[in-house]
Amino acid sequence: MTETLMRTYKPQPLSFDKGEGIWLWDDQGNKYLDAVSGIAVCGLGHAHPAVAEALCEQGRTLIHTSNLYQVTQQQQLADRLCAISGMDRVFFSNSGAEANEAAIKLARLYGHNKGIDTPEIIVMEGSFHGRTMATLSATGSRKVQAGFEPLVKGFVRAPFNDLEAIRAIGQNSRNVVAVLVEPVQGEGGIQIPATDYLNGIRELCNEHGWLMMLDEIQTGMCRSGHWFAFQHNNIQPDVMTLAKSLGNGVPIGACLGKGVAADILQPGTHGSTFGGNPLVSRVARTVIDTLEHNQSASHAADMGKRILTGLQQALQDIDGVTDIRGMGLLLGIELEQPCAELVDRARDRGLLINVTAERVIRLLPPLIITEQDADQIVAIVCELVREFLSH
Ligand SMILES: *Cc1c(COP(=O)(O)O)cnc(C)c1O
Repeated sequence: MTETLMRTYKPQPLSFDKGEGIWLWDDQGNKYLDAVSGIAVCGLGHAHPAVAEALCEQGRTLIHTSNLYQVTQQQQLADRLCAISGMDRVFFSNSGAEANEAAIKLARLYGHNKGIDTPEIIVMEGSFHGRTMATLSATGSRKVQAGFEPLVKGFVRAPFNDLEAIRAIGQNSRNVVAVLVEPVQGEGGIQIPATDYLNGIRELCNEHGWLMMLDEIQTGMCRSGHWFAFQHNNIQPDVMTLAKSLGNGVPIGACLGKGVAADILQPGTHGSTFGGNPLVSRVARTVIDTLEHNQSASHAADMGKRILTGLQQALQDIDGVTDIRGMGLLLGIELEQPCAELVDRARDRGLLINVTAERVIRLLPPLIITEQDADQIVAIVCELVREFLSH
């Protein structure tokens, strides 16, 4: 193993040479069913022909110019994103953390414009918003923050799925300008709030003049069973952030604004050298076209239901399984005990899974899985969990 990489990651002893659809091949020629999708990135699977074609064609035509000039591909992507989301304007970044940075800056500027000098953003316990200074400060995990103090100020924390807590903060502080929340907490262990939680936040935001800011970096782009998870609730956020599967693997993030929130960032207030360049914009537009053509949202809903039902039927009466939950193809199986070793055991059987929040098996398969693939995932995971808990 190379000694020249900083030790930020603890990779599994495994490296892949190629991928196709839901499959990956390691350098020994072994084949794996990928139920992680590069952490909810490769929604269309690996080496998708339309994505590869867009990437190659744009690479041969024009990769980068700069936001000093108009970027046609970026404009076209923004039009498509606004059309499918109901948002008004987009700022493009290169990652999820950067998309959230844009949202945080936007919220602070919104506050200052209203005469609030020390604006505060309500964020949740157990949340994950990224690893930059502002986003790790917004994140609700001490593990992510420890050692990086002083943290960025201006965040107040509420328990997830607790509208009363948000209401109480609103009564006690005049400095709140926004609420930043994941519709489903991904890194936090596929935590799904009450069905009317987002509606309640929307109402509180309306009442107080706060911006409702949704981090849809993991839930967005059809994974939840709609284009965006908020569309399950019949509401419209003021701000939404995207990244992960927006580019199916090319690095791109986006911060979208609606109404007043769309016009807060003005020339000179924010920017990015690479953000929304012709290459990534072209690829992301192809991703949207392909998701639409495949009817990926309803397919994700169907496949998610199939996997969830399969898991529940096989596992829900087993001692040691605390909960089985899912929304579309965001699926979690919570155990009573830490279960990180299941990742290795699954790999030995040719299945890639992830464990998050110590005790939650997280499944984020590509949106292109077939019924047969779904059944295979269920069969292997159920066998693994049974074996693991019977010792
Ligand atoms: C992955 C993730 C991020 C961070 O995205 P990066 O591209 O790693 O910076 C932020 N929020 C959520 C909900 C995520 O899942």
